[in-house]
Amino acid sequence: MSTEQLATGAENTWCKGCGNFGILAAVTQVLSDLEKQGIDLHNVVIASGIGCHAKIVDYLKINSFYCIHGRVPPVVTGIKLANRSLKVIGFAGDGDAYGEGLSHLIMSAKRNIDVTMIIHNNRVYGLTTGQFTPTSPKGFKGRSTPRGSLEAPLNPILLMLSAGATFVARCYSGKIENLVEVIKAGITHKGFAFIDVLQPCFTFFNTYGFYNSNTYVMEDHDPTDFKKALERAMEWNMTEEGKIPLGIFYRQEKDTFDELILSGKKLDQLAPLDITSVLSRER
Ligand code: SF4
Repeated sequence: MSTEQLATGAENTWCKGCGNFGILAAVTQVLSDLEKQGIDLHNVVIASGIGCHAKIVDYLKINSFYCIHGRVPPVVTGIKLANRSLKVIGFAGDGDAYGEGLSHLIMSAKRNIDVTMIIHNNRVYGLTTGQFTPTSPKGFKGRSTPRGSLEAPLNPILLMLSAGATFVARCYSGKIENLVEVIKAGITHKGFAFIDVLQPCFTFFNTYGFYNSNTYVMEDHDPTDFKKALERAMEWNMTEEGKIPLGIFYRQEKDTFDELILSGKKLDQLAPLDITSVLSRER
């Protein structure tokens, strides 16, 4: 299908200038390209949570599912376990993924379920008109923090590296070429692919100027080196200053949860658990 054929024709209600448009354009391009490379789009399922990001499933002519707040990771896990031949892509917002659904996100990365999670990280609750989220900078003034947030933001890249995600990347919705390339790599990666997309909320937290001046695409980085990935992840800590590296921080191939749980052969290959040695270690 062409990018035009992938559009549903549903009225788009995102604010003018919203960074979600960049993500929609990139995902549409990726899906169209993947179909040309032989992936049947009938075998692609997308799911979204609650928030402005979630409307993306309304705008794409792809099998889709709306989840409750924060529950995209368990829903995409269930879809993948029900039918391993599907390509499953979850979309979530920063409040959705790093607030309400944080433990689900961590457990999905830890299990290495073979799905892709794309986080629309605008660092504010946009749909509910401007409250701070786990990735808002310290001092953020919004409707729930009129004098400024007292909390330091989470660093999602560090979080996912430590949780065990086998593909960890950051993009910016204003750098479409890089966004297309990374999303395509994430969807074709075997294992849990995590992509944090910096997505300005034009209405409640306009970060375009800062990201346009401070983001850069990593060109000298080896994504197979975990220690280097940690170093690059700490280059920027979601504050309002510093240079922001974009691209794939880490990529590794290992057995996925779905193949381990559904393949008797693989389970047979696992070493039997020696409970006596485990208990003696605990003492
Ligand atoms: Fe986009 Fe913010 Fe408007 Fe939501 S409130 S549609 S995130 S600009």
